[in-house]
Amino acid sequence: MTVTVRLARTVKDLLQMAQTEYFNAGHRTCQGCESAMVLRWVAKAAGPNTIVIGATGCMYVANTTYYTTAWALPWIHTQLSGTGSAVVGTAAALKALMDKGKLPREKINVIGICGDLGCADAGLSEVSNALTHTKYSFLILMYDNESSANTDIQETTMTPYGALTTFSPSGKQIRIMKYRWKKNMAAMMVVGHPEVRYVATAIATDPIDLYNKVRKALEIGGPTFIHTLDPCPKGWGYDPKYSHEIGKLAVETGIWPLFEIEDGKFRLTSTSARIARGEVKRKPVKEYIRRQTRFKHLTDEDIEYIQRKVDEMWEKWLIPGLIPLTKELPYPETKQ
Ligand code: SF4
Repeated sequence: MTVTVRLARTVKDLLQMAQTEYFNAGHRTCQGCESAMVLRWVAKAAGPNTIVIGATGCMYVANTTYYTTAWALPWIHTQLSGTGSAVVGTAAALKALMDKGKLPREKINVIGICGDLGCADAGLSEVSNALTHTKYSFLILMYDNESSANTDIQETTMTPYGALTTFSPSGKQIRIMKYRWKKNMAAMMVVGHPEVRYVATAIATDPIDLYNKVRKALEIGGPTFIHTLDPCPKGWGYDPKYSHEIGKLAVETGIWPLFEIEDGKFRLTSTSARIARGEVKRKPVKEYIRRQTRFKHLTDEDIEYIQRKVDEMWEKWLIPGLIPLTKELPYPETKQ
């Protein structure tokens, strides 16, 4: 069954449908922070009947400090790894109160928001457990700035190959400290939780795609999951005014494929669908990599390796994020 919910088709639709702000200006994120833009669009798509649960991370620290908040929605803080249990507990409590007649029966969105450390690393078991609770409806959104940014850019399992962080500096002896490929969270969530009806990737650079995916995830029922890639000027090393361009390049180079899996049906969306149909040519990954100082130590050979991995994903993988078990890629020879 496909969800029937009003979606934005054009920028005009989006502006008309998403006028009210529920995540306001005046928060304390860095200039050019794309995670803040994700929250803004998620809040607009969800609307006023929404409870937001935020785990410790950049979007907690930056948005709720010293008795101030940017949220115009009820908001709960949970500890770093607590998103999964907090969303299930909140959704279960709402259901119990409605079943007992203590709350009017109405749709209240429950959205858990966690960063890559709080979702893909420290909180993974709780998020996974939550996604098996099919009696309750909620969305878990992972905002992925590819590091533990609020504590000064430490490496997580979502940090991409070769990127500099405070935990993965480049040295004379070892040039590439982050040699492991990034985890594929959306694919893991689909494959590992077959009863979850909606999983998607998104990016704030494409607000129509992001807005529609949040609306679908909240409408379809049961647990759902969205993974956004969020350019972070502080951690990635570029001028904040280029956040939008960097996000666009992540999609246009194919490094960040936009897709959704709705009731088992896989669909590339937006620019990624146009690339797959041959309407737009994928740009070389070099255009994305060379814009960020976190990759400044990478050689052309390293970038060719990343390009081969991305080509492989587009040309051979069944679902972006699922590598065939039979496939191997040679690592580039690094002079270390
Ligand atoms: S460190 Fe990065 S993710 Fe955190 S608030 Fe700043 S720009 Fe946003």
